[in-house]
Amino acid sequence: MKILILGAGYAGLTAAYKLRKFTDFDISIISKSRIVKENTIFPALLTDDVKIEDTEFDAYKEASKRKINFVEADINGIFPESNEIKTSVGKFDYDILFIALGGAYEENFSKIPGHEFAFMHHTLEGFLGLKNALDKMEDGVRVFVGNSQNSPIEGPSYQVALIAEYLMRKKGIKGEVYLSTQSPKGVFGPIPETWISEAANKYFEKRGIKILKGKSVKEIRKDKVIFSDNTEIYADIKSVLPTLSAPDIVKSANLTDSSNFINVSIPTFKHINFKNIFGLGDSAKSMVPSKTARGAMISAENAVSTLLHEVKGIDLPYYSQGILCMMIGGDDGGILRFDKNNNTTKIILDFGKIYLNAKKLYSRFLVNRAFDVPYHAALSFNYSFK
Ligand SMILES: Cc1cc2nc3c(=O)[nH]c(=O)nc-3n(C[C@H](O)[C@H](O)[C@H](O)COP(=O)(O)OP(=O)(O)OC[C@H]3O[C@@H](n4cnc5c(N)ncnc54)[C@H](O)[C@@H]3O)c2cc1C
Repeated sequence: MKILILGAGYAGLTAAYKLRKFTDFDISIISKSRIVKENTIFPALLTDDVKIEDTEFDAYKEASKRKINFVEADINGIFPESNEIKTSVGKFDYDILFIALGGAYEENFSKIPGHEFAFMHHTLEGFLGLKNALDKMEDGVRVFVGNSQNSPIEGPSYQVALIAEYLMRKKGIKGEVYLSTQSPKGVFGPIPETWISEAANKYFEKRGIKILKGKSVKEIRKDKVIFSDNTEIYADIKSVLPTLSAPDIVKSANLTDSSNFINVSIPTFKHINFKNIFGLGDSAKSMVPSKTARGAMISAENAVSTLLHEVKGIDLPYYSQGILCMMIGGDDGGILRFDKNNNTTKIILDFGKIYLNAKKLYSRFLVNRAFDVPYHAALSFNYSFK
């Protein structure tokens, strides 16, 4: 059986490793670069707590060790009707396709009017640009961090706001840090437990961060940010995460629905219309609105379990995608866990220095194992094959 995996991120590599563990299928991964980045630790670049080389590994080497083909190429076209993929190094065909191309961060950021006046705290380049601006802060500086409407991950924004406050304090610079949250409840507002946002807001306010609740970025100008409700805030340094969708290349293959993500069934992550296609990670619909690395790995686990059941009769557990956000914020950190299945709800909200090291350690683990980390502290998802 010929398996093709598009994208060597958290989801794509997890799928490849698990398939290799249970099968001798012909597995190939196609991805832009053999150097893969563990991006959840990028905020630590702002404080020099990690170096760029600590965030990356060579996926070609790791794949080869496991007898998985790795093709370094740009994917230019997906043709689900003919089971074909067009790339910068030629065409590939497949029996089973896993699409794990991540979210269209850059494509969507470039659609925000005035995006050139802001950084995007998602890519390495975005973080390096932001770091340079934060290094040059002077008295009176106003830093704004926020998200566009329907942006599926605010955790990085919380961390960038905390780090900006820390850097000002450390350098003795007088300034303001503004953090906008899409929810009117504030930080972690979408979690259906009001005490969480109340406690989190208190923590951020104690750190001197001004929370602008219920605001989504609509437009950016040289010296200000304009929100969807047409209010605005003046800011010198601006960093924004856009709304998200699957990449255009996936959309143009008609694999998405009105959500703009790959139209998959839950919990199998199998495409609704194409039975030999799975959509994973940030590219696909998910059980929870947040799009995270942990969620991406769980989607890959579930998708591979589905295929293994269908072609090998192997039954493995399914997992629930929840929310696990470990935050670093300069000289202090925090954690939010909200995991739920039919039987259990697990909630943790805590702040403390211990999470600074915990996050760094977990990131080292992810890099050293090249994302071969099959345990995500996730709850099971009750599902039985019919
Ligand atoms: C600063 C920051 C902090 C974060 N913190 C957390 C956290 O604490 N916890 C958490 O769980 N998540 C966190 N996330 C979110 C997490 O990083 C993403 O959800 C995760 O990257 C999604 O994984 P993925 O495998 O779906 O996609 P990706 O990791 O984006 O992988 C997609 C891969 O596809 C490749 N690709 C894309 N298009 C093409 C193409 N046309 N041709 C060839 N290759 C292509 C890319 O190069 C990439 O290698 C954070 C993200 C950021 C930026």
